[in-house]
Amino acid sequence: MSDQHSHDRPNKTAADIRPNRLDNYQDVFADLHPPLDKHEALVEADRCYFCYDAPCMTACPTHIDIPQFIRQIAGGNPQGAARTILSENILGGMCARVCPTETLCEEACVREAAEGKPVRIGLLQRHATDHLMDSGVHPFTRAPVTGKSVAVVGAGPAGLACAHALAREGHTVTIFESRPKGGGLNEYGIASYKSVDNFAARELEFILKIGGITIETGKALGKDIQLDALRSGYDAVFLGLGLGGTNRLYIAGEDAENVLDAVRTIAELRQSSDLSRMNIGKDIVVIGGGMTAIDIAVQIKRLGAENVTLAYRRGREHMNASVYEQQLAQMEGVLIRDNLQPEEILLNDQGQAIAIRFAQTEQREGKLVATGAILTVPADQIYKAIGQKLDGQGLGASGIEMSGGRIKTDAENRTSVQGIWAGGDCVVGGQDLTVSSVQDGKIAAQSIHQHLMQLPEAVSGFAEAVLAANRKDLPSLWPQTQPVHTHATSPVKDH
Ligand SMILES: Cc1cc2nc3c(=O)[nH]c(=O)nc-3n(C[C@H](O)[C@H](O)[C@H](O)COP(=O)(O)OP(=O)(O)OC[C@H]3O[C@@H](n4cnc5c(N)ncnc54)[C@H](O)[C@@H]3O)c2cc1C
Ligand code: SF4
Repeated sequence: MSDQHSHDRPNKTAADIRPNRLDNYQDVFADLHPPLDKHEALVEADRCYFCYDAPCMTACPTHIDIPQFIRQIAGGNPQGAARTILSENILGGMCARVCPTETLCEEACVREAAEGKPVRIGLLQRHATDHLMDSGVHPFTRAPVTGKSVAVVGAGPAGLACAHALAREGHTVTIFESRPKGGGLNEYGIASYKSVDNFAARELEFILKIGGITIETGKALGKDIQLDALRSGYDAVFLGLGLGGTNRLYIAGEDAENVLDAVRTIAELRQSSDLSRMNIGKDIVVIGGGMTAIDIAVQIKRLGAENVTLAYRRGREHMNASVYEQQLAQMEGVLIRDNLQPEEILLNDQGQAIAIRFAQTEQREGKLVATGAILTVPADQIYKAIGQKLDGQGLGASGIEMSGGRIKTDAENRTSVQGIWAGGDCVVGGQDLTVSSVQDGKIAAQSIHQHLMQLPEAVSGFAEAVLAANRKDLPSLWPQTQPVHTHATSPVKDH
C-alpha cells in the first residue's frame, strides 16, 4: 500500500491544485504507437499467413478483409490496402489508432496463439490508411443523386459512418450536431496520445469529401430541432446520439468543485490550446474500471500529478479496461487498486474535497460485499469515470422503445418507430467502441438505403450481404405486417 493511503483521517487540510506542473509540455502526449515506416510495414506484412477463413477478420466488428489488405501492403500497394479497409470501415484510420486490437483482431490472430506475438494488424491498418489520406485522394465516388434526404443526429462515429454510406449511394444527408465541432468522442473523448496531430478533424474532412453531406453544428435535438420535424422533413432519420449524460456516485461530498467528471475533463484537455493552463492536483483519485478511467488517469499523470490512484470496486478481472490498458496505466505510474467501493468524499471547511473513504470489498458467492475494512485516500482532485448514460434529450414522447436507458433497435438498427434508425453507444447492446459504432452506422445505412430505394434488387450485393450477415435470427421491431419495402413513395414523410 502506498504511503499516502491511510485508514483514518486525511492528512490534507486544503487541495493542492495548480496549473504549470510540468517544465516542458512539448511531447507530453506523443503518439502512443508511432507509425510503421515503409520497410517496417513490409516486414510486418510478411509475417501474415493469409489464413483462409481468417479468424482476425471474424473478430473485427466491421469485418475488414484483413488478409487481403495485408497482402496488398506486402505487394507494395498501400493505396489499394486502404481502399479494402475503408470499404468496410470508413473510419479505418481512427480505428487503427484506438481499437483495442489486443482483444479483437490481434487476439484472434493465429500467430498470437502460436507464439504470443500477433501480426500487428492495427499498425498495418494505420500504415495503409495514413498513406491514402496523405495523398489527398478520396477512394470512393458518389452515385448519381437519388433525390432522397436523410437526417442524421450526432456527428460521432456512428452518425458519420451512416452519413458516408448513404451519401455514397447518392442520398443527401444533413447531420445535426449539438457541439461546435463534428467527430463525437473522436474529437472530444479519445485520449490525446491515441489521436495526435488533429487526426479526428482530418478524418472528418476526409469523410466529407464524398460530397452530399452537410453538417449543421450547434444544433441540438430537443432544443434547436425536434424529432417530429425531422420525420416530416426528411425521408429517414438516424440517431447517433452517443451517451452524453454521466452517472452519479450518490455519496456525500460528490458535488464539491474538485470532484470532476472524467469525460468532461478529457474533452477540455482535447480542446485545450495550452495544456500548461490546466489545473492539475498533486494527489489524484480516479474512480472506475474502464477505458475512460485508464485514459483520465494516464493523461493527468502525464500532466504532472504526483500520485494517481485508480480505484475499482470489484476484482481486477472484472475491469472493462483490457489487461494491456491496465499495464499501460501501471507503466505510466498509475496505482491500480481493486475492491474499493467509494463511501464518502471528505471535505475541508471550505467545502473542498481532500480525501475519499472507501469500503474494502470482496466477492462472496457471486455477490460483492463489504469486508468491514475502511481505507481513506487523500485527494486533491477526484475523477469520476463510472460510465455514461443517454441523456435522451429530444426523444420525449416520440414513442421510441427503450430498454435499460438505451434505444432498442432490431438487427437492421431500426427503432420501434418507423422511419427512425439508431446506432452506436446510444443503443442497447452496443459495445461502446468506436469500431462497433461504425458498424452500427453502416448496417443502418444499408437498411435505410433499401428502405429509400424500395426495390431489393436495386441494392448492391455487398449491401445485401451486410444485412444478411447481421439479420441472423434476430427479430425486427417493426411489425411484419408493415414491411419496410411496401410503400410506393417516401413513407416516412407521411407520419
Ligand atoms: C473517454 C473515452 C475514451 C474512449 N476511448 C476509446 C478507445 O480508445 N477506443 C475505442 O474503440 N472506443 C473508445 N471510447 C468509446 C468510443 O469513443 C465510443 O464508443 C464512440 O465514440 C461512440 O460513437 P457514437 O457515434 O455512438 O457516439 P459519440 O462519439 O458520443 O457521438 C455522438 C454525437 O452526438 C452528439 N449529440 C448528442 N446528443 C445530441 C443531440 N440531442 N442533438 C444533436 N447532437 C447530439 C454528440 O455531441 C456527439 O458528437 C471512448 C469513450 C470515452 C468516453
Ligand atoms: S489471423 Fe493473423 S496470420 Fe492469419 S490472416 Fe489474420 S493477421 Fe494474418
